Amino acid sequence: METAAVNSVLGIPLDLRRWRNRPIRAPHHTASAAALVGGGSEPRPGEISRAHNGVLFLDELAEFSRHVLEVMREPIESGRITISRARGQADYPARFQFVAAMNPCPCGYLGDEQGDCNCSADAVRRYRGRISGPLLDRIDIKVEVGRPPVEALRPGAAKAESSKSIAARVSRTRKVQLMRAGKVNAKLDAGELADLFCSQDECFELLDKAAVRLALSARAYQRVQRVARTIADLSGEVQVHPAHIAEALGLWQADRGQANCRQLPTPYSRPRF
Ligand SMILES: [Zn+2]
Repeated sequence: METAAVNSVLGIPLDLRRWRNRPIRAPHHTASAAALVGGGSEPRPGEISRAHNGVLFLDELAEFSRHVLEVMREPIESGRITISRARGQADYPARFQFVAAMNPCPCGYLGDEQGDCNCSADAVRRYRGRISGPLLDRIDIKVEVGRPPVEALRPGAAKAESSKSIAARVSRTRKVQLMRAGKVNAKLDAGELADLFCSQDECFELLDKAAVRLALSARAYQRVQRVARTIADLSGEVQVHPAHIAEALGLWQADRGQANCRQLPTPYSRPRF
């Protein structure tokens, strides 16, 4: 109903064939801040509100203007956006799953064993610097995806787990979370998360050590706990174990592979890394 209400503000008619289907929005990287978060003289909802209860996918994240990305920080945190204009103020919902993809460098070959990257270290730093530390801080899982080996592309090659079976596991896990807390882990507040996290000292020792080593912000410290709780749920564990925390920390930390790259002698321009 909330998603349909946002569409109705934009004059988009209700499509019953898509009723109860979660929206997936994938705006182009040339999108303006107003198109993305909403705006106009009479404030209208933007892509983040059209993605409410669904997925917002930003492909080529580094190609979006820095300003556009920065205005998304607040709604990512609060799940709402307030647009103020001379003619009035509007408050729209914007709770979406944020998914983004980008190349490792402007040419796209950095770290690739077969391709030759010809970007200077400076160009790579500038390219990555377009994603600010505070925005990266709000992305819980960062995964480097390499080129698949040629053998994997052959017909009859061993198949990875199917999306269908992964979807079934995710759906089971969501049900467990809804039954336990009445909400999914993403919506747990700090107190609820603390109750469901871990009672072993070992867990906090690991987390505290990592927090110092990786200079985790308070936000990141909590986000890692949330992902660890979800990893435990996915494996059907009632308790969060140190292994789940270690996995969450690995997923939180970006560009592990880049550390070995000769072209990037120092970590790129992220504030605390
Ligand atoms: Zn390159």
